[in-house]
Amino acid sequence: MNVYNFVPIDKDHPPQRAAIPRHDRYEGLAGQIQCQLKAERPLFLPGIDGYGRPLVGRGELRLFSRSEARRSKDNPDGLFIAGSSLKGLLRSIVEATAPGCFQHLQHNRERGGTVPEAFHACPPRGRDPVACPACRLFGFIGQGTDAPLRRGCVECQDAVCVECTGYEAIYTAILGNPKQRHSAFYAPDGRLAGRKFYYHHREDQLLTESGWRISNRGERQNAHIEPVRAGTRFAFTVDFANVSEEDLEALLFALVLEENLRHKFGYAKPCGLGSVQITVERLVVLRNPVRRYVGSGAEEEWAGAAAAEEARRRAAAFQERILPCVLEKLQEIWRWPPAAGVDYRYPSQAWFAENPRAPLSATP
Ligand SMILES: [Zn+2]
Repeated sequence: MNVYNFVPIDKDHPPQRAAIPRHDRYEGLAGQIQCQLKAERPLFLPGIDGYGRPLVGRGELRLFSRSEARRSKDNPDGLFIAGSSLKGLLRSIVEATAPGCFQHLQHNRERGGTVPEAFHACPPRGRDPVACPACRLFGFIGQGTDAPLRRGCVECQDAVCVECTGYEAIYTAILGNPKQRHSAFYAPDGRLAGRKFYYHHREDQLLTESGWRISNRGERQNAHIEPVRAGTRFAFTVDFANVSEEDLEALLFALVLEENLRHKFGYAKPCGLGSVQITVERLVVLRNPVRRYVGSGAEEEWAGAAAAEEARRRAAAFQERILPCVLEKLQEIWRWPPAAGVDYRYPSQAWFAENPRAPLSATP
């Protein structure tokens, strides 16, 4: 079966836009979510050095993000995951489920297929500054000079490794299939199929190679990477301010999903890497924070199992509002543990050649 599938969009249920919270005053809810991220499969986020170049070891082995400043007894190599990567993960879930706009699509026309206008990137032209749930939470890059970049209401700190179970260097299978943007998959009837999510792979079904795969033109087609092993854990904090109860519920759903779902995160997803579980370990919610200074005490705090339970309770409230066709597809793709007896891989070049117009559901 193909390695990814699409969570659909429903043109009859476009993003519900609302006024963008102002940053010069406090409204709604503020607080902090302390989380743990545990790798359930090897996990890799390509490291970059201080100049933005890929962090590579000898023989062009790409290394996990690391920094001197992050080193500690529990994290001798200084491993970390950039907060911006976490933010991107959370955003993609809110975009698919709330739903939100296609913030990146207007810069990505090669994907083909038209997107209903109501799903075009925020802010909508010629109207008061309103934004979809994803843009309210995470901000947006405005289109044109009169709609500049807006900061969101959520900040993700870098996730710092708290326990590393080791590394194992691998050669990935070929990641960039030339037919990946195959229009029969992406836009089967001229309309974009939805948002792309990758299936989880079983532990014994990771797609690796024993060395470099070289194209006819002599180019390397796969990658040599050093992911952290399953079981490795990271800790991170999400701060939020000026968020409505509904948007906080959406944020918490993006973090914890539901018990039998896992996130797919990082590099080499088509090869089976990047299945992770996020749990909430502490949650602080301040209601109308201005009142905090006059001692109204509208602060609630949960820790440990109680925090996880409260996060789930709020996430479940959001989940009730997700369109059934969207939720069912996400549950199918991100189901955990992964289905037995299904092998996920890209169809071969020969299959694409023989089946140029076959839909994604017809893949072997
Ligand atoms: Zn938006």
